[in-house]
Order: sequence, then C-alpha cells, then structure tokens
Amino acid sequence: MEPVVSPLPDRGALAFAREAYRGLALYDPMREPCELDLSDNTNRFGVPPAARRVLAAADTEAITRYPAVYARDLKQAIADYAGVAPECVVTGCGSDDVLDSSIRAFTEPGDRLAYPDPTFPMLPVFARMNGLEGVAVPLAEDGDADAAGLLEPRARVTYLCSPNNPTGRATAPQRIERVLDAAAGVVILDEAYIEFASPQRSFAPVAAARGNLLVTRTLSKAFGLAGLRIGYGIGSPEIVAEVEKSRGPYKVGGLTERAAMAALTEDREWVASRVAETLAHRVRFAEALRGLGLRPLDSSANFVLVPVPAAAATAAAMRRAGVAVRAFPGLHRHGDALRISIGTWPQMERALAALGGALS
Ligand code: PMP
Repeated sequence: MEPVVSPLPDRGALAFAREAYRGLALYDPMREPCELDLSDNTNRFGVPPAARRVLAAADTEAITRYPAVYARDLKQAIADYAGVAPECVVTGCGSDDVLDSSIRAFTEPGDRLAYPDPTFPMLPVFARMNGLEGVAVPLAEDGDADAAGLLEPRARVTYLCSPNNPTGRATAPQRIERVLDAAAGVVILDEAYIEFASPQRSFAPVAAARGNLLVTRTLSKAFGLAGLRIGYGIGSPEIVAEVEKSRGPYKVGGLTERAAMAALTEDREWVASRVAETLAHRVRFAEALRGLGLRPLDSSANFVLVPVPAAAATAAAMRRAGVAVRAFPGLHRHGDALRISIGTWPQMERALAALGGALS
C-alpha cells in the first residue's frame, strides 16, 4: 500500500518548524538570579497591598473556574483608570501578548513592521515570529524618534515607544501625531512606562477616538505585577475587536484579573507614592552617576541609560558584586551603555558602589 504521507527527510523536529522561525533564538533577557536585580524595570518596592490581599484570599471559584471570556470587569477597571470606554480596552498576558497579537492582527506574512532603533528589544523578535520584515529606523540626531524615517517604509504596522526603552526618552507628542497622520497602516504606541513620565501625556484618549492607533500599557512596571502577566491595549472598538480575535479567549488568568482589578481600584495611592519615590531617586541617582564622571541620559521612565566603556564586562563585574543591570553593547547613537532600574535608595546606593567598583 502507498504511504498516505510521503516520508520527510530526517531533520528532526525542524522538518515541521515554521520557516520564519529558523535562526530565531529563544528570548534571553540575561537574567540569571542575582541578589539585587535592577535589570528589568519592574517595581522594586514590593507588592501593591490590595492585590496581595486578593491573591492570599484566592477561593476555589477563582482557581477551578475559567476566567471571564473577554475580561469584562477588568476592562471596566482599566477603562476607569485610563479614562476611556470599556469597549476600547483589550487585555492580554502581559503587554508582550497584546503587542504580538496586535502586530499579527494587522499584518500578513511578508509585510513590514517599522520601529525605532534602539527600542524594546522584543520588536525584531515579534517581527520574526509573525513572518514580517522588521525595519529598524535609527533615532533622530536629537535622540528622539525619527518620524519621517519611520513613515518612509510605508509599513503595515509602525511601532513607537514613549517613554522609550532603553533610552528613557519620552517621544515628542508632535512626532507621534505626525506618524499618526501619515502612517500607511496601524500605529502601536507602547506606553509601558507612562506612569513615570512628567507630564504624563498619554495618547490613550486619542487611541480610543481614532481608527489607526493602539496604545499598549502594562501592570508590570508601576503597578508591580510583572509575575502575574497582565497588560492591556487601548484603541477604537474596531481595532480592539481585531486584536481580541488574534489573541484568543482566556489569555489572562482569573486570579490575575482579580488582583489587577484590586490594584487598579484600591492601590492607586500606593502606586502613586512609589512612582514619586522613583522619580526622586532617579534625579539623585543621575546626579551620583555624574559624580562618577558619567553622562546618564535624561529619563522619563523608571530606569536610567548610562553610557559606559565595555558595557558587557562592566555589567559582569557588577553582577559579581551582586547587582544585575542590563548591558546594551554598541547601541545606535550611544555606544556601549547600561540600563539601570530605579528602586529604593539603599538599592541605588548598592548599585552605585558596584558600578564604581566595576569602573575602577
Ligand atoms: N514594552 C516595553 C517598552 C517593555 O520594556 C516591556 C517589558 N520589559 C514590555 C512592553 C512588556 O512588558 P509586559 O509583557 O510585562 O507587560
């Protein structure tokens, strides 16, 4: 009898793998456990109290039942927080999930995805995961996004990040508007660090009102819930519906949803106080870095990017002293640099001591 399926050449599992995934390595944020981790811009001040209470009191229902299909109650809490209507909100397993789902929702394989360089290192990965051509557009001379350069590839999706990771720079609103007015496709504006910007000029209300913008945000940073994996997007109801199709149902755990609702409604003061402390420590830390002869970039986020010689070796030496920071070797416009999250002042003092030791 003839075989129904002709035998494949023996290339192991790769024979069945997606073409676009060839050469795509698993994401490595270089985060081996370390005594003091200032490498990932999470909230180093602890857990928001109402969220912790909800987690500690988890009942059978929260664990054994599926969460709400499209997170209705959580959407309402996010809508109240962000000042938009609940039908303009989509949730996801971290904003990573919202970014990936929205990129997939608005592209076909082979399309272009334009993003600034440098920016959130997952962008080229999302491009590869979705079979897209990633177009990295160098930051403009002044260190902000290059609006004209981002428009030039006429990409199906154009990504902006404000405040930008890893530079910490808030994108000028006029540049965002320029991209929005002339983009050939959908614009995604990543506001993961918006709570740390002053003034806090969010495009969430703009996104809810127009048809070509999705703003993404997260509870992983200011809200301190990175381990629970909860992010969200804000756009017109039509945009949101497409992202929900792409993302699929039940992506956020029920307990996570409840903790996130508690944080968004009862923990806002706690979050605001931690943000205020972060901003004060950011100023003090930048001053201390200048005292070491370094020139940190101005930051609107909960981290500081500081150019240093031999970033990888410097970060490795700091790690040996018990402090993890993220090294960015050979960054466009800035060369070798370290990105250091801002936490409590004793944590920052420890980081300064480790950095001073590593540089001497
Ligand atoms: N966007 C930016 C700019 C980030 O820096 C990060 C996390 N490092 C994310 C999105 C993703 O965060 P999460 O998936 O935890 O929401």
